[in-house]
Amino acid sequence: MNDLEREYADVIEKRQKVKEELIALEQTETIKRYFKLRLEWDILYNKRHDLYKQIQKEKLSSCKHILVNTSSGSAYNQTCGCIKCGVDTSILEERRERLSFEEKIKYDYLKNNYIRLKSTLTDITCDLDLAMALYSKIKEHHPNIDDETAIHYIKVALDHIRNVNVNDERKKSRAKRLSLKPTFNRWNEKDI
Ligand SMILES: [Zn+2]
Repeated sequence: MNDLEREYADVIEKRQKVKEELIALEQTETIKRYFKLRLEWDILYNKRHDLYKQIQKEKLSSCKHILVNTSSGSAYNQTCGCIKCGVDTSILEERRERLSFEEKIKYDYLKNNYIRLKSTLTDITCDLDLAMALYSKIKEHHPNIDDETAIHYIKVALDHIRNVNVNDERKKSRAKRLSLKPTFNRWNEKDI
C-alpha cells in the first residue's frame, strides 16, 4: 500500500464513523424536531411567496390606472406608466428571466392585459417617479379627489415646475419635498 492508498483507506474509515454518528444523532428528538421545523419553514416560505404574488396581482388588476407617457419616443414605441400603482410598460422591453420576483409579477400582468384599454389615458409626458410623487402629494392634501381633478392638478404642478426657472438648490429642496432623490434631475419632458 502506498501513501496515497493508505490515506484513502483512512478517509473511508473516518467517513464511516461520521456516518454512524450522524445516524445516531438523527434518532434524537432534538434533531427530529429540527428537520420537522426546517420542512415547515420551507412550506411557509412558499406559502408566503404565493400569497404575496396573489396580493400584488390583485393590486394591479384592481387599480384604476392613470397613465402618463414615460418616454418621449414616437407613438410606436411609446411607453407609459401608472401614477397610482407604478406599473410601467417599459418593463416589457426587458427579458423576463432577468427581472426580479417583483418585476416579473408586473411583467406578466402587462403581458396578459392590454393596459391602455383599462386605464385613464392622459397626454402627460413625465418621468414616472415624478408623476407618482406629485400624485401622492395631491392625494395627501385631497384624499377624496377624483381622477380627473387629480390629473388637472398634476398638469398645473408640472407646468409650474417646468416653466418657472429655479436654481439647483431650490430644485434639490423640491425633490426632497416630493420624497425624490436629492439628485433627481428628470423634471422636463426632454430629460426622460
Ligand atoms: Zn395602476
